[in-house]
Amino acid sequence: MTRTGPTSDIDESALAVTSPKNKAAGLTAVAVSMRRSLEQMGLLRTSRSLARLNHHDGFDCPGCAWPEPLGHRRPAEFCENGAKAVAEEATLRTVTPEFFAEHSVAELATKSGFWLGQQGRLTHPMVLTPNATHYQPISWRDAYRLIADGLRALSSPDEAIFYTSGRTSNETAFLYQLLVRSFGTNNLPDCSNMCHESSGTALTAAIGIGKGSVSIDDLTKADLILIAGQNPGTNHPRMLSTLETAKRNGAKIIAINPLPEAGLKGFKDPQRLSGLLRGGTEIADEFLQIRIGGDMALFQGLGRLLFEAEDRAPGTVVDRAFVDAHCAGFAEYEAHMRAVDLDAVLEATGLTRTQLDETAAALIASERTITCWAMGLTQQRHAVATIEEATNLLLLRGMMGKPGAGVCPVRGHSNVQGDRTMGIFERMPDSFLDALDAEFAMSSPREHGLDTVDSIRAMRDGTAKIFMAMGGNFVSATPDTDVTEAALRNCALTVQVSTKLNRSHVVPGEVALILPTLGRSDLDLQDGTKQHVSVEDSMSMVHLSTGRLAPVSSDLRSEVAIVCQLATELFGPDHQVRWSEFEKDYDLIRDAISRVIPGCSDYNTRVRERNGFQLPHPPRDSREFVTATGKANFAVNELAWVPTPPGRLVLQTMRSHDQYNTTIYGLDDRYRGVKNGRQVVFVNAADIAELGFSDGDLVNIVSEWPTEGRVEERRVDGFRIVAYSTPRGNAAAYYPETNPLIPLDHVADKSNTPVSKAITVRLERAD
Ligand code: SF4
Repeated sequence: MTRTGPTSDIDESALAVTSPKNKAAGLTAVAVSMRRSLEQMGLLRTSRSLARLNHHDGFDCPGCAWPEPLGHRRPAEFCENGAKAVAEEATLRTVTPEFFAEHSVAELATKSGFWLGQQGRLTHPMVLTPNATHYQPISWRDAYRLIADGLRALSSPDEAIFYTSGRTSNETAFLYQLLVRSFGTNNLPDCSNMCHESSGTALTAAIGIGKGSVSIDDLTKADLILIAGQNPGTNHPRMLSTLETAKRNGAKIIAINPLPEAGLKGFKDPQRLSGLLRGGTEIADEFLQIRIGGDMALFQGLGRLLFEAEDRAPGTVVDRAFVDAHCAGFAEYEAHMRAVDLDAVLEATGLTRTQLDETAAALIASERTITCWAMGLTQQRHAVATIEEATNLLLLRGMMGKPGAGVCPVRGHSNVQGDRTMGIFERMPDSFLDALDAEFAMSSPREHGLDTVDSIRAMRDGTAKIFMAMGGNFVSATPDTDVTEAALRNCALTVQVSTKLNRSHVVPGEVALILPTLGRSDLDLQDGTKQHVSVEDSMSMVHLSTGRLAPVSSDLRSEVAIVCQLATELFGPDHQVRWSEFEKDYDLIRDAISRVIPGCSDYNTRVRERNGFQLPHPPRDSREFVTATGKANFAVNELAWVPTPPGRLVLQTMRSHDQYNTTIYGLDDRYRGVKNGRQVVFVNAADIAELGFSDGDLVNIVSEWPTEGRVEERRVDGFRIVAYSTPRGNAAAYYPETNPLIPLDHVADKSNTPVSKAITVRLERAD
């Protein structure tokens, strides 16, 4: 299987490489933010939008899920990538019916995701009919009728897939899952399946809730913060301000990552004169350059060292009071840790014994430890076990349910956590479904639905025939691009509710619809009344978001309106759910949410408070663990890691700095020193020499997968080698360009998350 990215519009020969940066942000970040904003939005819209971004009466950043501070907010309460996200959404460029008349789907399919995104906001509902070459305009009414007729024609509701992206608001997510369950299926995959599903799975088993247990305030009170498998400088930039405050308050920060990212090293706060003049703040006190996939070994090695330290000074390391009162499985965990092979740990991690000892000493010295992590942990084959081991260490030290301590999985998309709270999950618990049924006098389907990977399988195999996406870019977010594209093409109908053009629109089913929707920054008027939506951040704070910009087209509908109007078409005007009332007044949706979802009582009042409200988290609030044992559970896992076979490299996929999830803002990766291109593979200089290549060589990347007695090869062509500080035997390249290297079946144990962080590859010289 060979694939060369659709980069006809990107001249990769213009690619230039310079030295990576040692600090994130600074004045360059301000300059880039302003340039991109002015290019896309013009002066007026730039000042109107950025002034309200992440402010109490403004709109929530459509970028990541990092929380806003509870107290004072700065005039510019956003980062470079937040500004880029807004510029992309609030752009004045438009994709009109004339654009679609000019460009066939076949032509658009040759374009890169970057080019497609740069064309601007979608302005009209469009349809692609069977055998047509171009999308054509369609009325909203006809579009709803087409979907409703298609859904009604299925032989089972389970033949439809309803995907959700993390930008979707709480109100839309709640109504969307209500529509889907009223229709009769739990097929509700979401982008969380590709990111923090492993965190949710591990934390639910360990502490009874799949969410982080800390707040920004906790981070500033911690005396030790571990940041594992995370690149905050690009993916959660405002986290750097919090880390800077934590440092000022005396915290030690240990970064654990295969790549020495700029944001892990230092931060030049562009909003503080001292940050700019004095060269910024060093973020990480220690940097553990761990081998890809070595994290579980690290946490287990630390576990063993902690028990050895406890032996030397009994009663000083293990928090016996906490363990005895609140935990189960400690004896088994202790026995397992005492047998951990430290030589194997050193081999798996690539770290030195001194680094291990010093990290253990830091854990022992700490009274308030927080462990943060992101995709570097969650997208490993053993991701769930790895996160369980990270949690084990915190439980052992009693670091749960007290200020300045706990778990912090940092979510990557602005409302991915809220969507799950609202019921976007193929396996919602019966308690949720019972409450939904009681509120709406309905009978929710109880059979579990399909997650993302299983949805692709179902579409590929023809057992699912309709795919609807509430936002997102499914084709680029998912692995195994060829299989995913074939799966979508295999559908009778694909429906994309979108703000902008992306690769998923050029991979249509037999019939395809594009439904243009309002973005976060857009004014949402229903029946002449301004509406608000709400979101939940990475730390369980729920707050309002109110767009104010004039939409670029009068033919856009809000996501709430699209769900309500589709539901009315599908179920008829006499349905027991008051869809048309919900559409006119989002307060009514929030009232329903308050009756169905625990912790959301009095939603309309509390969400209007200055900082919104925080959802309950029993381990954080009262050291209560709602698990089968009624306690926090230590987990026991066999040690696993990812060795590098001879002549091969272990590759991780990652974003560039000019990218947010699947959205490509530009062709630079400033912090890593890459300009004007994306087809690069970062390799350690010693490995480049050992493999017989030179820095700058053009190669094809070939992944190898043992299957049914043979090795299946997948390749992406035309990547430039960049000598980089990766661990020996490890490499890195951008997604979605490298998604084709990952087979659909290469998923994490228990969470079914595609494994994008451990791909065994070889490099071949390109012709
Ligand atoms: S840190 Fe995240 S939420 Fe905040 S402005 Fe940046 S991208 Fe947006």
